[in-house]
Amino acid sequence: MAEARIIDGKVHSQALREQVAAEVAALVRDHNLKPGLAVVLVGDDPASQIYVRSKGEQSLAAGMHSVTHRLPADTPEAAVIDLVRQLNDDPAIHGILVQLPLPKHISEKRVLDVLSPDKDVDGLTVVNAGRLASGQPALTPCTPLGSMIMLRETLGDLTGLRAVVVGRSVLVGRPMAQLLLGANCTVTIAHSKTRDLPGLCREADILVAAIGRPQMIRGDWIKPGATVIDVGINRVPFSDPVKAAAGKTKVVGDVAFKEASAVAGAITPVPGGVGLMTVACLLQNTVTAARRLHGLE
Ligand code: NAP
Repeated sequence: MAEARIIDGKVHSQALREQVAAEVAALVRDHNLKPGLAVVLVGDDPASQIYVRSKGEQSLAAGMHSVTHRLPADTPEAAVIDLVRQLNDDPAIHGILVQLPLPKHISEKRVLDVLSPDKDVDGLTVVNAGRLASGQPALTPCTPLGSMIMLRETLGDLTGLRAVVVGRSVLVGRPMAQLLLGANCTVTIAHSKTRDLPGLCREADILVAAIGRPQMIRGDWIKPGATVIDVGINRVPFSDPVKAAAGKTKVVGDVAFKEASAVAGAITPVPGGVGLMTVACLLQNTVTAARRLHGLE
């Protein structure tokens, strides 16, 4: 069987960023409306700092207004909540993203509970989850949204396909399943208590892995010709013992890529797949929020 087609995150995310930049230019030109994104970062987690910098740079590159609020790790919860309330009321801001995880003394739930659902560009509020589950226009979490765009651009109409999503997190698995259902797939959500996971995965025309377990999904779990979306981002030691001994690490997905690509019809690589779509979708969500807040949809 031929090697799977690679679903290249670079190509899809570049196309989406260009589309967003064109939409921003049109909103500025036709409506004097510049979509604005505010990112709130509490503390100095190194990975979060990299993500936040990239979000700021990419929103500016798309022609958007962009503000990053960097707060010290010991900022009281009440001050974070106050800032979110101010951003809710700020007419120049259409999207608010609170970078997670927050320091332990701050409740994510209490912060998300004050965030305006109409500016919740990460799609994490209960209101947006409810809108998505009831088929209403919602702001959808960026990683599943990006996965869905890649699936549609690869397969076209998904109607009637059998989809299995492994993982049921609020951030990825659940919204991914809702999006697939909205696209008329027959969807099963699997998790750590699922029986015969390999057998279930083998039934999938579309297999989405959002587990957080390095290379757990093996080649013989995959139906020949299936489309595989690997959401996992796992840092592991190099297999080369010299590099591993030197403490060097690499990033792998939840799918054993080499085995899987010998069986699948199409597959996202890690790195270079879904991860690249996430920030592009954040920009798209900010444009969507700006349009809706101004009654332009
Ligand atoms: P999470 O909140 O830890 O959820 C993991 C899910 O996997 C849970 O539902 C869990 O089941 C399930 N699971 C764990 N072990 C399992 C097993 N042995 N068999 C079957 N299911 C199992 O993780 P997440 O936030 O959804 O993230 C998942 C992965 O995606 C991580 O690697 C993360 O780094 C990555 N990620 C990537 C992006 C991106 O931009 N590409 C964005 C977000 C996340 P239970 O519910 O039963 O515990």
